[in-house]
Amino acid sequence: MREPDCIFCRIVAGEIPCTRLFEDEQVLAFMDIGPIIKGHALVIPKAHYDPITAVPPAVLAPLLTAVQRVARAQQVGLGAEGINVIQNNGAVAGQAVKHVHFHVIPRFAADGHHWNWNPKAYRDEIELQTFAERLRQALATP
Ligand code: 5GP
Ligand code: ZN
Repeated sequence: MREPDCIFCRIVAGEIPCTRLFEDEQVLAFMDIGPIIKGHALVIPKAHYDPITAVPPAVLAPLLTAVQRVARAQQVGLGAEGINVIQNNGAVAGQAVKHVHFHVIPRFAADGHHWNWNPKAYRDEIELQTFAERLRQALATP
Protein backbone atom coordinates (compact mmCIF):
# COMPACT_ATOMS: atom_id res chain seq x y z
CA MET A 1 0.00 0.00 0.00
CA ARG A 2 1.43 3.36 -1.00
CA GLU A 3 0.17 6.85 -1.70
CA PRO A 4 1.72 8.45 -4.79
CA ASP A 5 2.10 11.93 -3.27
CA CYS A 6 3.31 10.78 0.15
CA ILE A 7 6.86 11.83 0.92
CA PHE A 8 7.44 8.92 3.33
CA CYS A 9 6.15 6.38 0.78
CA ARG A 10 8.65 7.86 -1.65
CA ILE A 11 11.42 7.52 0.96
CA VAL A 12 10.48 3.85 1.49
CA ALA A 13 10.63 3.31 -2.28
CA GLY A 14 14.07 4.96 -2.47
CA GLU A 15 12.79 7.78 -4.71
CA ILE A 16 13.76 10.37 -2.09
CA PRO A 17 17.03 9.86 -0.22
CA CYS A 18 17.16 9.47 3.54
CA THR A 19 19.73 8.48 6.12
CA ARG A 20 18.62 4.94 7.00
CA LEU A 21 19.19 3.44 10.44
CA PHE A 22 17.63 0.02 9.92
CA GLU A 23 14.75 -1.66 8.19
CA ASP A 24 12.94 -4.94 8.01
CA GLU A 25 10.00 -6.19 5.99
CA GLN A 26 7.49 -3.90 7.70
CA VAL A 27 9.40 -1.01 9.24
CA LEU A 28 11.94 1.69 8.32
CA ALA A 29 13.88 3.83 10.80
CA PHE A 30 15.75 6.89 9.51
CA MET A 31 17.11 10.24 10.62
CA ASP A 32 14.73 13.19 10.80
CA ILE A 33 15.92 15.90 8.41
CA GLY A 34 14.97 18.64 10.91
CA PRO A 35 16.05 17.34 14.31
CA ILE A 36 14.59 18.83 17.48
CA ILE A 37 17.72 17.40 19.12
CA LYS A 38 20.61 15.91 17.10
CA GLY A 39 20.00 12.15 16.76
CA HIS A 40 16.21 12.63 16.33
CA ALA A 41 14.94 9.63 14.35
CA LEU A 42 11.68 8.62 12.69
CA VAL A 43 10.17 5.13 12.67
CA ILE A 44 7.52 4.41 10.03
CA PRO A 45 5.62 1.45 8.62
CA LYS A 46 6.72 0.71 5.06
CA ALA A 47 3.07 0.52 4.03
CA HIS A 48 1.06 3.72 4.04
CA TYR A 49 -1.26 4.05 7.05
CA ASP A 50 -2.71 7.17 8.57
CA PRO A 51 -3.73 7.99 11.26
CA ILE A 52 -2.61 5.75 14.15
CA THR A 53 -6.14 4.37 14.49
CA ALA A 54 -5.85 2.86 10.99
CA VAL A 55 -2.72 0.81 11.73
CA PRO A 56 -3.41 -2.93 12.11
CA PRO A 57 -2.10 -4.51 15.34
CA ALA A 58 0.17 -6.79 13.28
CA VAL A 59 1.97 -3.67 12.02
CA LEU A 60 1.78 -1.70 15.25
CA ALA A 61 3.69 -4.35 17.20
CA PRO A 62 6.86 -4.35 15.03
CA LEU A 63 6.60 -0.55 14.74
CA LEU A 64 6.74 -0.12 18.52
CA THR A 65 9.48 -2.71 18.82
CA ALA A 66 11.49 -0.66 16.32
CA VAL A 67 10.82 2.51 18.34
CA GLN A 68 12.23 0.73 21.39
CA ARG A 69 15.30 -0.39 19.40
CA VAL A 70 16.01 3.16 18.25
CA ALA A 71 15.54 4.46 21.80
CA ARG A 72 18.08 1.91 23.07
CA ALA A 73 20.49 2.95 20.30
CA GLN A 74 20.13 6.57 21.40
CA GLN A 75 20.99 5.54 24.96
CA VAL A 76 23.93 3.35 23.98
CA GLY A 77 25.23 5.20 20.93
CA LEU A 78 24.56 8.81 21.88
CA GLY A 79 24.45 8.61 25.68
CA ALA A 80 20.87 9.89 25.78
CA GLU A 81 19.76 10.56 29.34
CA GLY A 82 16.09 10.65 28.35
CA ILE A 83 13.96 10.05 25.27
CA ASN A 84 10.76 11.58 23.95
CA VAL A 85 8.54 9.35 21.78
CA ILE A 86 6.01 11.50 19.95
CA GLN A 87 3.39 10.58 17.39
CA ASN A 88 1.17 13.31 15.90
CA ASN A 89 -2.19 12.68 14.22
CA GLY A 90 -3.90 15.40 12.22
CA ALA A 91 -2.88 18.95 11.34
CA VAL A 92 -4.61 20.15 14.50
CA ALA A 93 -2.17 17.95 16.47
CA GLY A 94 0.87 19.26 14.60
CA GLN A 95 1.16 16.51 11.98
CA ALA A 96 2.79 17.67 8.75
CA VAL A 97 3.45 14.34 6.97
CA LYS A 98 0.33 12.21 6.67
CA HIS A 99 1.96 8.78 6.93
CA VAL A 100 2.10 7.36 10.45
CA HIS A 101 5.45 8.02 12.09
CA PHE A 102 6.96 7.95 15.55
CA HIS A 103 9.48 10.60 16.50
CA VAL A 104 12.22 9.20 18.75
CA ILE A 105 14.12 12.13 20.23
CA PRO A 106 17.18 11.74 22.47
CA ARG A 107 17.27 14.09 25.44
CA PHE A 108 20.16 15.44 27.45
CA ALA A 109 20.19 17.43 30.68
CA ALA A 110 21.88 20.33 28.89
CA ASP A 111 19.99 20.16 25.55
CA GLY A 112 18.16 23.42 26.30
CA HIS A 113 14.89 22.18 24.82
CA HIS A 114 11.56 22.77 26.59
CA TRP A 115 8.17 21.52 25.40
CA ASN A 116 5.33 24.01 25.69
CA TRP A 117 3.53 21.59 28.05
CA ASN A 118 0.74 23.58 29.65
CA PRO A 119 -1.45 21.39 31.87
CA LYS A 120 -5.04 22.48 32.55
CA ALA A 121 -7.55 21.45 35.23
CA TYR A 122 -11.02 19.89 35.09
CA ARG A 123 -13.72 22.22 36.41
CA ASP A 124 -14.61 19.67 39.07
CA GLU A 125 -14.77 15.90 39.74
CA ILE A 126 -18.04 15.63 37.78
CA GLU A 127 -16.44 17.00 34.63
CA LEU A 128 -13.50 14.56 34.97
CA GLN A 129 -15.89 11.62 35.42
CA THR A 130 -18.01 12.75 32.44
CA PHE A 131 -14.98 12.65 30.13
CA ALA A 132 -13.87 9.30 31.56
CA GLU A 133 -17.34 7.81 31.10
CA ARG A 134 -17.47 8.89 27.43
CA LEU A 135 -14.14 7.19 26.89
CA ARG A 136 -15.16 4.02 28.76
CA GLN A 137 -18.31 3.76 26.63
CA ALA A 138 -16.27 4.17 23.44
CA LEU A 139 -13.76 1.58 24.65
CA ALA A 140 -16.58 -0.88 25.32
CA THR A 141 -17.78 -0.55 21.70
CA PRO A 142 -15.81 -2.94 19.50
P1 5GP B 1 5.11 15.62 11.87
O1 5GP B 1 5.02 17.10 12.12
O2 5GP B 1 4.31 15.22 10.67
O3 5GP B 1 4.84 14.79 13.09
O4 5GP B 1 6.66 15.36 11.56
C1 5GP B 1 7.16 15.20 10.28
C2 5GP B 1 8.67 15.08 10.41
O5 5GP B 1 9.20 14.64 9.19
C3 5GP B 1 9.37 16.41 10.75
O6 5GP B 1 10.11 16.25 11.96
C4 5GP B 1 10.28 16.65 9.54
O7 5GP B 1 11.53 17.21 9.90
C5 5GP B 1 10.42 15.27 8.95
N1 5GP B 1 10.60 15.27 7.51
C6 5GP B 1 9.82 15.91 6.59
N2 5GP B 1 10.27 15.67 5.35
C7 5GP B 1 11.36 14.86 5.48
C8 5GP B 1 12.25 14.28 4.53
O8 5GP B 1 12.16 14.45 3.32
N3 5GP B 1 13.24 13.51 5.04
C9 5GP B 1 13.39 13.28 6.37
N4 5GP B 1 14.39 12.51 6.76
N5 5GP B 1 12.56 13.81 7.30
C10 5GP B 1 11.56 14.61 6.84
ZN1 ZN C 1 2.87 7.15 2.75
